Amino acid sequence: MTAAKDPMDPLQPESAVSFADALRRALAQERPAEDWLIPLLACADADAPALLSAADRVRRDMLGDAVHLRALIEFSNICRRNCRYCGLRRGNGALDRYRLPPERIVEIARLAASLGYRTLVMQSGEDLWYDAGRLADIIRAIKAETDLAITLSVGERDRETYRLWREAGADRCLLRIETTDPGLFAALHPDDNLAERMACLVALRDLGYQLGTGVMVGLPGQTVRMLAHDVIWMHDLGAEMIGVGPFIPHPKTPLAAAAGGTVAQTLRLVAVLRLVFPWAHLPATTAVGTLDPQGRERALEAGANVVMPNVTPAEFRPQYEIYPNKICTGEEAAECRACLAMRLRLIGREIATDHGHVRRVAERMK
Ligand code: SAH
Ligand code: SF4
Repeated sequence: MTAAKDPMDPLQPESAVSFADALRRALAQERPAEDWLIPLLACADADAPALLSAADRVRRDMLGDAVHLRALIEFSNICRRNCRYCGLRRGNGALDRYRLPPERIVEIARLAASLGYRTLVMQSGEDLWYDAGRLADIIRAIKAETDLAITLSVGERDRETYRLWREAGADRCLLRIETTDPGLFAALHPDDNLAERMACLVALRDLGYQLGTGVMVGLPGQTVRMLAHDVIWMHDLGAEMIGVGPFIPHPKTPLAAAAGGTVAQTLRLVAVLRLVFPWAHLPATTAVGTLDPQGRERALEAGANVVMPNVTPAEFRPQYEIYPNKICTGEEAAECRACLAMRLRLIGREIATDHGHVRRVAERMK
């Protein structure tokens, strides 16, 4: 590498470690370190197939061919925050807002269970109308009527609220750290604080939730070095589920003119995560499927083992516009399930029939 290369340039990071050595160290399960993460995350196009297929092999050896389907209900697009990348941000006055009543959420949970799903992911903006007690009641009702595992993805709340929801029966929680770089986090979150978000994740872990986090790829100003630090931080945290997707600029946000992330960079990160976290649940995200019609399949062949089909009523889907051109906004729940089953068959994968708990919990339940 020549001296002219800038180590902070995402396309030309400097590292003394060759791609081959980096891959060897990853496969040897070395503790994640910047010096070998960077050559993998920034590998040349010619090296990418070796990285992606190594991750695919690790996924198959550790977890088999079964893909866990998590039914996703987007139950409110009302949000108190103003994250600069997100179409649901409070400042986007051009969006029609909706909020599903508790009975409707429980009804959709029943539908998800009847379609054969084993997990319901309840996602929303940070909508405080669903206060601790109200969401706990919904969780309890779903748990009483179905055998679904419940994953929450509702943003930041205080520890006591998370505790109540865990007690009510919530099994898992997803809260992406988005980036661990303090400057980038602050630039993206006018009303949020990196230390607080990290504290939420630690609280969720200590409360016994199966712990999910993740980052966006291609945020303005983000470098491969930052992504390497994200991987190390998530490893230290003990993340058990990690969702990563490309940042897709939304026209009604301050980042409308940003370049956004790429499928290629996202796949490299998915593959690195599989090598660093052989047992983790890694979704092939809707965002990667939005940039490339085969994006989810490509992620599933680069280490991912989870897909999150939508069960939000079709009438509300277009309004849950976190980013533009989101896929699967026209279908009803049953159609999404059938489409996914067919897509998985085409790449030789099957649908898991168990709950798909993280390893630690699945082993305890044996
Ligand atoms: N309000 C909750 C859950 C909904 S947002 C929360 O913020 O945790 C879910 C995820 O969507 C976020 O974590 C973020 O990583 C992702 N997201 C937001 N805006 C996006 C964009 N423009 N492109 C891609 N992903 C985006
Ligand atoms: Fe709200 Fe989540 Fe979007 Fe931030 S990312 S504006 S918290 S919905």
